[in-house]
Amino acid sequence: MYRVAFRAYRRLFSPPLQTCHGVWRVREGILVQLQDESGRIGWGEIAPIPWFGSESFQQAWAFCQQLPPLLPEIPSLAIPAPLTACQFGLETAWLALVDPDPPLPPGADRPAALCGLLPTGTAALTGWRGIYAQGYRTLKWKIGVAPIAQEMAVFQELLAQFPPDLTLRLDANGGLSRDEAATWLRVCDRVPDRIEFLEQPLPPAQLAEMFTLSQQFATPVALDESVATVAQLEQCYQRGWRGIFVLKPAIAGSPRTLRQRCQDYGLDTVFSSVFETAIARRAALRLAYQLSPTPRPPGLGTGHWFDRADRLQAAEADQIWDALAE
Ligand SMILES: [Mg+2]
Repeated sequence: MYRVAFRAYRRLFSPPLQTCHGVWRVREGILVQLQDESGRIGWGEIAPIPWFGSESFQQAWAFCQQLPPLLPEIPSLAIPAPLTACQFGLETAWLALVDPDPPLPPGADRPAALCGLLPTGTAALTGWRGIYAQGYRTLKWKIGVAPIAQEMAVFQELLAQFPPDLTLRLDANGGLSRDEAATWLRVCDRVPDRIEFLEQPLPPAQLAEMFTLSQQFATPVALDESVATVAQLEQCYQRGWRGIFVLKPAIAGSPRTLRQRCQDYGLDTVFSSVFETAIARRAALRLAYQLSPTPRPPGLGTGHWFDRADRLQAAEADQIWDALAE
């Protein structure tokens, strides 16, 4: 049996995060502490994003609150399928106890090995230098937020300013029309060594159109919103998608099943953040390095989106836990 405890957290984005799903001000999540009979501790984190297909914070919290303080092996809990963030958080804590991983390769957690997120819109023009100075060499910029002509102008200006060792990922969060997506890909094809991929140009319902776009242009197309959970990843693979899969382990469901599918299908993956603490970030990094010794830079460079004074910025799980002590 395992003794389980939960602590909820709220973190303010600074500044608020703007995406085409709207403005995100507060990241709410839950830390999981699982203790075995010998007193060893496994950590997990439940960091839902309901508009991305996971349960809401309230649903996750309600589920955690009705669990007894003593739990059997986590897989035997049969956590309901819609609670994908709970599946990740509880199973991660349990895996840390029953199947601990070797340490990550040195540097895996440093900016140079990760992808950092640029501020949206024209703020990217002044924002990139600070992120570059931290060591990031792969940056992501959100598009599909302002009119395309405006974003194209900022994009060209960014490319003109960027040093040659900087690679850019574009993420449309499904916010483009088919014509706009084609325009972006045409422009990206002219600077192939600067652009790694265009992420989720169209909404998930338009998989066939994204398939066509991926064949018409050389710039790779990546799926993100389309493959938010293990079940959706499975569907897209069965329907023939062999391009890049952007995976957010913290909301995908069981981390063991996710790893198994990636291995079985030999997927080209990018692991990505849900604005989690170091607990879930490390679990996502472990998955990335279990699947490849040289993964595409995981999109986990998001710490700079929270206030520096935020005590949940801590690197160690017990410090993060203690920061939430009543
Ligand atoms: Mg994305």
